[in-house]
Amino acid sequence: MTERCEHCGAANRPRANFCAGCAAKLPGFAATGPSALELLDATAPRASAAAARADGAPGIQNDMALLPRRLVVGGLLLAIGFMAWYLYVTRAVDAVAVPARDGPIALQPAFQAIGSLEPQLDALPGVSAGARAAAARTAGTARVAAAAPVDDAAETVARFYRALSAGDGATAAGYVTPAKRGQGPLSGAAMTAFYGGLAEPLAIRSVRQLEAEVVEARYSYRATRTLCEGRALITMESPAPGATIRSISANC
Ligand SMILES: [Zn+2]
Repeated sequence: MTERCEHCGAANRPRANFCAGCAAKLPGFAATGPSALELLDATAPRASAAAARADGAPGIQNDMALLPRRLVVGGLLLAIGFMAWYLYVTRAVDAVAVPARDGPIALQPAFQAIGSLEPQLDALPGVSAGARAAAARTAGTARVAAAAPVDDAAETVARFYRALSAGDGATAAGYVTPAKRGQGPLSGAAMTAFYGGLAEPLAIRSVRQLEAEVVEARYSYRATRTLCEGRALITMESPAPGATIRSISANC
């Protein structure tokens, strides 16, 4: 099973491409790549190739000529499909178009008329007597009435702190000079808010007059956790009788 070379007669292994003795091509030579085309050209009859080129009917050239025609047909189909899609979409939009209104648009109010906003506490079934009293007290702090004149300045201060013990800022403000009882830290609202909300209410320790217009008060209260052991110097607007509190200087 050896391949014998035609040129030199050397024996080669089976299916060898080149002769081991003279390097010539053996009959079993099979080229790859471009040389295969060369081989085809060399072996094909030149007359038939020329004839095929002349009439152009069979062979590779005919398939190549078909390719552009297929491209044209494909492009035409795409264009027709696009036009059909476009017509369909525009028709669909026309069909969905908003219908014309018969008359003007009537704007509805966001809410209907609301009744009187004035509170009618008595009409509310869920309001307790205590809540009504608190509401009345809150409303009363706006207009503070002066307390009845007291002969003694110390007595005025004692009544002032007694009202604070009860958390009644409105009554306490009645002993404050008129210029300061309307607003600020000595106003009824401010004193009610603070002394009315203590964790431990104010308790009076002592009240004594130091000078004609100065009274000292000692008290204690607890706003949060810290106990206040208070000492205050209260300056009166004028000497008794009818003295009102002008200012208070205190440690707490
Ligand atoms: Zn050879």
